[in-house]
Amino acid sequence: MSRAIRRHWWITLFLGLGFLAPAAGAESVSWEDVSYAEADISMELEQAAEDVYYVIGRNGVPDADNQGFMSNAGFVVTEQGVVVYDALGTPSLGWKLLEKIRGVTKKPVTHVVIGHYHADHIYGLQAFQDHTDATILAHETAERYVSGPGAEARLKQRREALFPWVDEDTRIVGPDETFGDRKVLDMGDKRVELVHVGPAHAPDDTLMIVHGPNVVFSGDILFDGRIPFVGDNVDSENWLAGVERVAELEPEPRMIIPGHGPADKDAAAAVEFMRGYISKLRERMGEAVENLVPFEEAYAETDWSEYEGLPAFDATHRRNAYNVYLEMQDQMGGGF
Ligand SMILES: [Zn+2]
Ligand SMILES: [Zn+2]
Repeated sequence: MSRAIRRHWWITLFLGLGFLAPAAGAESVSWEDVSYAEADISMELEQAAEDVYYVIGRNGVPDADNQGFMSNAGFVVTEQGVVVYDALGTPSLGWKLLEKIRGVTKKPVTHVVIGHYHADHIYGLQAFQDHTDATILAHETAERYVSGPGAEARLKQRREALFPWVDEDTRIVGPDETFGDRKVLDMGDKRVELVHVGPAHAPDDTLMIVHGPNVVFSGDILFDGRIPFVGDNVDSENWLAGVERVAELEPEPRMIIPGHGPADKDAAAAVEFMRGYISKLRERMGEAVENLVPFEEAYAETDWSEYEGLPAFDATHRRNAYNVYLEMQDQMGGGF
């Protein structure tokens, strides 16, 4: 090979790599910097508005296929730093999200807001605690989750379901600071407002409103395109109220990013779906409790066909109905 040809070859290789680098870089995450197991599941960063980004998790229960990536999260870049909403379901996913943020801006992450303490939204906090100076913010009732017995039991279950992404080194990271009904982060060019709407899906449900770009992160107050998870500490009446608060936001948000499911520009559809689903559970289970109809019978007699084809129906719907049945029983002073 002559020197000229060799040089030409090098230039071609150089240009070729240069051309490829941005595309490869967009997906590249440096796992050698951390002890978390590599999560090779693809995570597409989407843009809701200028400076506002989000990622959408998969449907389903936590398993090796989704690697625990079942919930949504996002962030807003402001003059004074980056505010993140939710941290995803494993330290590996938290790290992956942090690397995505670093791909967009060199500004530091100043805050991580947790929309509610449930395992699928918080295990990624470990990466933010280990690798940023961000303040972790949550509603004051989040402390109950952190110090309660359920959190450890859930972690144990996830160490099995999501190994190696959740392992012996995975820990529950509590908030650094808590707030009451409302908190405003004045971030220079943008105002970020946190509004507590729980207890609903969880005691600490919090919306994050990004004023200016006018984007709302609703957390698990809204699920879109799948059956929601209704836990055993649900307040379904207040959940409906929370859905209405989202519906009545003024000005109407440019985009609402739900806790699960795609971010639909037509947020009205997600609101309508949640309203319908929670109302139906409350009506049917309420009637049954009032008439002393056992759960099994009430469940079997109800026509659920409008929800049957949706993701997560088999995994969650029956338990959802049961949890609302128990809730109604409690409220009506039943249970004997
Ligand atoms: Zn949840
Ligand atoms: Zn969730």
